[in-house]
Amino acid sequence: MCNVYMNAAQAAKIGKSNGSSPRHGNGSLTASEKNCLLLWTRAGGRCQYQDCNRKLLGDFSRGSSSKAYVVHIVAANPEGPRGDPRRSSDLACRVDNLILLCAEHQKLVERDAVEEHPEGRLAEMKRCQEERMRRYFTPVAGLVSPAVSK
Ligand SMILES: [Zn+2]
Repeated sequence: MCNVYMNAAQAAKIGKSNGSSPRHGNGSLTASEKNCLLLWTRAGGRCQYQDCNRKLLGDFSRGSSSKAYVVHIVAANPEGPRGDPRRSSDLACRVDNLILLCAEHQKLVERDAVEEHPEGRLAEMKRCQEERMRRYFTPVAGLVSPAVSK
């Protein structure tokens, strides 16, 4: 079973060898940690809900961090939001089944408006946001990427 919640401060600790987080015997990341790190990276540290783009990293220098949620698109539990008796178990720890959300949108997607957020809609939000991040960070010949010009 994956951790489904990891805030920005916890994500920032991944890779640091302070021994406070669970590790395999050789010190490498767990599958869940790798997935969370991949998700945070692909999302550019932003909420992936359509048109939200809320920055989830907070300001560590001031000790603040926004709450962020790593949410299953198809719930790990077949009885959970968008859960599927045949697929939930297999999809539980796949990064393609995870979406990074701010607290407001996590509540909407997992509690207040589950029916309005079917699997396909969330998968499309995730795909579009990750594509936008990929384009943003990809240099174009002759131009300076906006990611490095600021
Ligand atoms: Zn959001």
